[in-house]
Amino acid sequence: MANPTSLVGTWRLRSWTVARPDGTLHHPYGQNVVGYLIYTTDGTMSAEIMDPDRLQSDPHFPLQPASDQTLSDPDRARAYSTYLSYCGTFTVEGDVVTHHVKAGLVPAWTGSDQVRHFRLENGKLVIASGGQTLVWERAVPPGPEFRRLAEGVYALLQPPLVWYSSAGVIVGDRDVVLVDTLTNAAMTRTLQAGIRRVTDRPVRFLINTHAHADHVYTNHLFPEATVICTHRGRERTRANREAQERHTSAFLRLFPDVDFEGGRYTLQDLAFSGTLTLWQGEREIRLLELGEGHSESDLVVHLPAERIVFCGDLFLNGLPPLPSEGHVTQTIANLQVLEGLGADIYVAGHGEPGTQADVRAQRERLQRLFDHARECHHQGLTYDQALRVFAEEEAPLGFTRLALLASWMELSGRHPETADPASRDHLALLQGLAADARQAWGSSLRGRALLG
Ligand SMILES: [Zn+2]
Repeated sequence: MANPTSLVGTWRLRSWTVARPDGTLHHPYGQNVVGYLIYTTDGTMSAEIMDPDRLQSDPHFPLQPASDQTLSDPDRARAYSTYLSYCGTFTVEGDVVTHHVKAGLVPAWTGSDQVRHFRLENGKLVIASGGQTLVWERAVPPGPEFRRLAEGVYALLQPPLVWYSSAGVIVGDRDVVLVDTLTNAAMTRTLQAGIRRVTDRPVRFLINTHAHADHVYTNHLFPEATVICTHRGRERTRANREAQERHTSAFLRLFPDVDFEGGRYTLQDLAFSGTLTLWQGEREIRLLELGEGHSESDLVVHLPAERIVFCGDLFLNGLPPLPSEGHVTQTIANLQVLEGLGADIYVAGHGEPGTQADVRAQRERLQRLFDHARECHHQGLTYDQALRVFAEEEAPLGFTRLALLASWMELSGRHPETADPASRDHLALLQGLAADARQAWGSSLRGRALLG
């Protein structure tokens, strides 16, 4: 389900529970358990977990013993039984992470393979095995990362948040092909610094996957590049540019903690319909128009030899699927096309790159949501009533509201009558989703080095 690299980082333990046979939950190291789990890019890992009460509740176990040599045998036994620690290497296969233990506190584990099922859920890492569940959150949300995906292929990756999109960088013998630009000048400087670290060749072509601001807003900072998109994408960019003033004031009002400095719509130079192939020497770069889906005109960039697809926002990882302009069944069909490309790496428009299974999971989630909406619609529920049904079953609601609205528009052929006029505003809904996503990440990103 997850890409191995999505585990990399430092995770802080939120809870450790064990299900008893009677269904109740036991907290082996208490409710305030302390722990860190670290996965590195070179494939090593370490885990430390402590029962914090070991330091406080026992008068014979002082907070800062002078030395462990002074401990009595019972206290040593207690020290052993209230702490868990090991390190080694790790490998990931599907939804299983295996810790190959090289050294650890528990003698029997040293040299063993500790096999754990895991899933990533709203930015949290959930590790479950044998009735035990450990929930971890990132100790520090990662900043932007310029990551190598294959020989000459890179991506600038950011946390899975609204406005924090990904960009692709494809380096050839003579030039660089860029996939998408970013929300502001600061993010773009980070991207440009990443490019300069790996090549001094010029960015010759720039591809926009769609016309949304967070993917086209700094096109003008690559003045030498020929900017490519679909005909429909160019029309949408033109319409957005004509509404620049309105967009600017809405963005600033609805997203006060997002930096839009240096961003604006600029028109593309070259437009196509269907497919277009760029060649970088022997490297094939296939642009595939998929039409309506996440936006009114989505395209994806496929590198067949490298088995990599830059998906734009058709595929998101850590954010909910967003068929934001009312084309849910087409989005589902387009996700199926993505799966059919059989790539190894699907670079999400936002969040970590994923696998084919991640794309499938997103399609299935959207299909379930659409089926549910259709059922509500057939039952004659109003949009507001359907929202209440979803509020009971899906959480947080902001994560499904845009998809529900899109489903409703598709099912009824028009914008729903709703008691809440603000919910008619696409950007207002996006604002709610952005807030939920930030909360899921447990941190406001205002002022963080993320923008630097
Ligand atoms: Zn986006």
